[in-house]
Amino acid sequence: MSKPLLLVLGDQLTLSLPTLEDAPTDAVVALCEVKEEARYVPHHVHKIGLFLAAMRHFARELERKGFTLAYSRLDDPHNTHSLVEEAERLAKHHGCDEIRVTRPGEWRLWEAMRQRQEAVLPWRLLEDTRFFTTPADFADWMRGRTQPRMEYFYREQRKRTGLLMEGDEPAGGQWNFDHDNREPLKGRTHFPTLPHHHQDATTRQALADAARHFPEHMGDITNFNLPVTRRQALSDLRHFIAEALADFGRYQDAISDREPYLYHSRLSAAMNIGLLSPREVCEAAERSYYEKGAPINAVEGFIRQILGWREYVRGLYWTQMPGYKRENRLNARRELPSFYWDAKTDLRCMNRALQMTIDNAYAHHIQRLMITGNFALLCGVKPEALCDWYLAVYADASEWVELPNTLGMVLHADGGLMGSKPYCASGKYIDRMSDHCAQCRYSPKQLTGTHACPFNSLYWHFLERNAERLQDNPRMKLIYGSLNRMSDEKRDAIRQQAESFLRRLTPEKGYGLPCHTRGYQRS
Ligand code: FAD
Ligand code: SF4
Repeated sequence: MSKPLLLVLGDQLTLSLPTLEDAPTDAVVALCEVKEEARYVPHHVHKIGLFLAAMRHFARELERKGFTLAYSRLDDPHNTHSLVEEAERLAKHHGCDEIRVTRPGEWRLWEAMRQRQEAVLPWRLLEDTRFFTTPADFADWMRGRTQPRMEYFYREQRKRTGLLMEGDEPAGGQWNFDHDNREPLKGRTHFPTLPHHHQDATTRQALADAARHFPEHMGDITNFNLPVTRRQALSDLRHFIAEALADFGRYQDAISDREPYLYHSRLSAAMNIGLLSPREVCEAAERSYYEKGAPINAVEGFIRQILGWREYVRGLYWTQMPGYKRENRLNARRELPSFYWDAKTDLRCMNRALQMTIDNAYAHHIQRLMITGNFALLCGVKPEALCDWYLAVYADASEWVELPNTLGMVLHADGGLMGSKPYCASGKYIDRMSDHCAQCRYSPKQLTGTHACPFNSLYWHFLERNAERLQDNPRMKLIYGSLNRMSDEKRDAIRQQAESFLRRLTPEKGYGLPCHTRGYQRS
């Protein structure tokens, strides 16, 4: 009879985890706080605080359920601070003869664990059942497709799960209500305020430990307000459904100079670490449509993000790694500008998105995609620099979801697997969707000159630079038509404007260094 060590990772905090199923009575459950995981990129201190607090609360819940626990704290003098080594140390210490673990969120760890399968102490790797699909399901769906598209994958998931389906037909008569979901805020000033979560002694100690161990990392722990228990996460879910869901759709693409959350759910971190299941979140939204009359464009738009995009990026990640991480089809070579770490820039839209990130370890999707992401795309920032940044600064960041979004959706570095065209935009788009420009020293209406919005010249410069790769894309024909009709003088002036701006950008100075100096090998 085997005595397993059941290793539960920091983003697997749920009792229905496959690792915990059918646990023999003498099994030991292990949770490990290790510095290697907090430092391989310099994670935001809120993110580290979230993991520490949620892991410690979950450990108590496991104890209450009668599990025998082995918990390695950051301060434990015997802690090896490497996840794999620590699990093996604990297994040996407790006389276990195998280690069981559910698929982690990063290929790097999966590979390290797979390589240990033949070691003296065998590792048993289990599939993660907390998603709607497994990597094998996605590989089946991908088979034979040269141009996979999220939309078709999503429709199949709707049919498979029955979510928002009425017989064989989609609820509301359409699969997609995106055309109703593009309104700017236009003077709206009142938004739902997030619940304030009580911090008990466990949470306070975890947050203090995060701040003490990682003082050089981004963020100030004093304004931490993420849910760290299932109960707190459920309270955020109820709040979103009651207060924000109805307006989620129409303002999904809007950006505010003042408000970080708008009508977004801020449920990603809770879902990603296991406090909420994606199925219960989708079902809560669906109930709100059938029982409370929530608008279909909002409910469908929300479910699409989780059942569609979230599953799709995970499928791409696991079927395309490890090669995916090395992709750089637009040959981008620039270092990340230093202001990504301190928000010191006079581009108002960038300053606000970055400052909100520093304050909350959160920015909503359009800030990530159309502000900080778009800027990096236009400047030609190299994928590994931008990916490390997104992985470090957001509380919800895990490589399975961050990488396809950054490398694929934002940088178009995968040649179009994630998106059929790059999401590049000029200042005109940002001006239409936000109230930033009225407060900026630059003008979104000017293309060249000292007050011209840098996004404008960078936009055309990006298109010109990448013409060979992009101009035959049917969705970009129109814009390349406009570029090609410009006079040579105008194109020269734009090029000079953009190049002079790019020359003035200061590359980051070592903020991302921990991963390189610590010998973290990019896979
Ligand atoms: P809402 O706007 O309320 O959306 C509801 C849910 O849908 C989210 O909680 C999330 O689970 C899911 N979702 C929405 N869009 C996406 C998407 N494109 N991919 C996957 N799931 C999605 N999301 C992460 O969870 N972790 C990341 O590390 C991450 N990195 C990103 C990096 C970039 C460059 C971009 C453009 C997007 C990234 N996203 C990431 C996706 C998305 O921006 C966040 O999920 C979302 O902003 C989280 O806020 P929310 O919970 O308020 O989302
Ligand atoms: Fe951003 Fe340009 Fe608008 Fe300034 S003018 S806020 S830089 S888009």
